[in-house]
Amino acid sequence: MNIVLLGPPGSGKGTQAKRIEQIHGITQLATGDMLRAEIASGNALGRRVKGIMDAGELVPDDIIITLIRGRIGKPDCRNGFILDGFPRTVPQAEALDRMLAQRDLRLDHVIEFEVDEAVLIDRLTGRFTCQHCGASYHERDNRPKVDGICDVCSSCEFVCRPDDSPETVKARLGVYRRQTAPLLPYYRRTGILQRVDGMADIDAVTREIEEVLG
Ligand code: ADP
Ligand code: ADP
Ligand code: ZN
Repeated sequence: MNIVLLGPPGSGKGTQAKRIEQIHGITQLATGDMLRAEIASGNALGRRVKGIMDAGELVPDDIIITLIRGRIGKPDCRNGFILDGFPRTVPQAEALDRMLAQRDLRLDHVIEFEVDEAVLIDRLTGRFTCQHCGASYHERDNRPKVDGICDVCSSCEFVCRPDDSPETVKARLGVYRRQTAPLLPYYRRTGILQRVDGMADIDAVTREIEEVLG
């Protein structure tokens, strides 16, 4: 099963992708996490994208398409994958269609997360993530079960993302509206787009996604 999670920053894509990964045994491919790993390793690609990400802009399509092309053929994607944060532009969606067709694969579901903008700002400015596995938490609404210890991997190192500052969050929401929202009609046209209420609590969103996945 191959799935795309589509929604603005903070709509809960990463949180739900980790749950779908557990429930269905398919692999989360989060382009933001991949890029942050490149930055952490200090390589040339990481140096090239850091300033772009810190400003809340999109990394060039060719870089992202190359990253994803290298991932979907790996053995851990044999059962399928959850694309979290990709595609984010129409050219990325077109490239995805081509690379899937070349492998005789297709998308089974594109799930849109709908969340009001004021809620997104609150979620992102309160977000912190596990440095080790990327699990994401919220300082008020979604704390680890045991304070200071990641529920998923038991690490005790957490980080706040530099792009979750209030100013950069506003820039990212603008980028979503201008560059990513056009994907909604793109996928609606083929009848593959389904919507979930991203404002519901985390368990309720998971249940709604499970209904969509059937
Ligand atoms: P995205 O990957 O779409 O940017 P995340 O999954 O990282 O979003 O979630 C953003 C923030 O909102 C995190 O702090 C997360 O804990 C919190 N969050 C996610 N889903 C919900 C929800 N349904 N209700 C309340 N808070 C949520
Ligand atoms: P969020 O989960 O909050 O939506 P991500 O972790 O997915 O954020 O992405 C963080 C940043 O990484 C983006 O603001 C952008 O700079 C870059 N990025 C991630 N995915 C893509 C993509 N598909 N195309 C272009 N840039 C991307
Ligand atoms: Zn963790």
